[in-house]
Amino acid sequence: MRVLAFLDGTLADPDAAHIRVDDLGLLRGDGVFETILVVDGVPRELRAHLDRLARSAAMLDLPEPDLAAWERAALAVIENWRGGREIVLKLLYTRGADGDPAGRPTGFALGMEVDPKVLRARAEGVSAVTLERGFTPELAERAPWLLLGAKSVSYAVNMAALREANRRGADDVIFTAADGSVFEGPTSTVVLAKEGTLYTPPSSIGILPGTTQFALFRGAEKRGWSVKVEPLRVSDLLAGEGVFLASSVRMLTRVHTLDGRALPDSGAVHAELIAAYEAEYAS
Ligand code: PLP
Repeated sequence: MRVLAFLDGTLADPDAAHIRVDDLGLLRGDGVFETILVVDGVPRELRAHLDRLARSAAMLDLPEPDLAAWERAALAVIENWRGGREIVLKLLYTRGADGDPAGRPTGFALGMEVDPKVLRARAEGVSAVTLERGFTPELAERAPWLLLGAKSVSYAVNMAALREANRRGADDVIFTAADGSVFEGPTSTVVLAKEGTLYTPPSSIGILPGTTQFALFRGAEKRGWSVKVEPLRVSDLLAGEGVFLASSVRMLTRVHTLDGRALPDSGAVHAELIAAYEAEYAS
C-alpha cells in the first residue's frame, strides 16, 4: 500500500512517473526530506518534523517551505491510507528541475508500509559496529557548507556505511568522529542509559537533532529519569546499562552487540523507555 500527495493536497498514482529526469534532487542529491511515523492515523512529532524540514531547507538555501501546505499533503496521505496501523510518511523537497526558469522546487508526501526488517529490529534489537566519519566535532560550526546535520537526500554515504556493517556481519552503524567521540547512526540518534540518566551527543557536533530522542527524553523525564545532552565516547557506551538507536520508524532499538562485544542485557531498561515514549502518544 502506498499513497502519494502533492503540496496542494491532490493525490496521485504512486506507481506512475511524476518527477522529471533532470530534477536536481535526482541529479545531485540536492534536496531535503523527513520520515514521520503515523500510528492509528496520528502523525508523531509532526510539528518537530516540519520545523526540521524548514531548518534543513534553510541550510541548503532552498525556498522557505510553506509548512501549512506540507501539513496538508501529509494529512491527505493519512486520510487516504487503507493499509496497516502504521504509515512511514516521507516528505521530499528538492530544488526542482535543472534550468527551470521559474525555479520551482519539487515537493511531495509519500506514505508507505513499515519494512518488516524494522519491525524485527524493534523486537529483537541489533548488532552495530563503529565506523569513522573522519571529521572532528568542531567542523560543523566552522564549515556550514558541508551541511553536517541537515537531513539532505544525499544519503549515499549513510547507505554505504550500512552495507559495510553488513559485510562485517552487523546490522547497523554508530559513526565516530576523528577524536573518537560518538556521532550518530546513519539513520538514527544514539542514546545511552546509565544509572538513571539518558545521554545523547549534542547536535552542534554536526549530527541531526532527533525528534524521537527528544520525545523519548521528554517522556523519560516525566518518569524520573535525568537527561543529558553531552559528548559521548565509545568507551561510555560500553560502560552503561543500555545503548539504543532512536529514529521515527524504528522508535527505540536496543544495540545488543557493539563491535562484536555483547553488551549487558538492556531488555528491562528498553521496556521502561518504550513505555515512557509510548505514553507521550496515549490519548
Ligand atoms: N540521524 C540521522 C542521520 C537520521 O537519518 C535520523 C532519522 O532518519 C535520525 C538521526 C533520527 O531522527 P528522527 O528521530 O527524527 O527520526
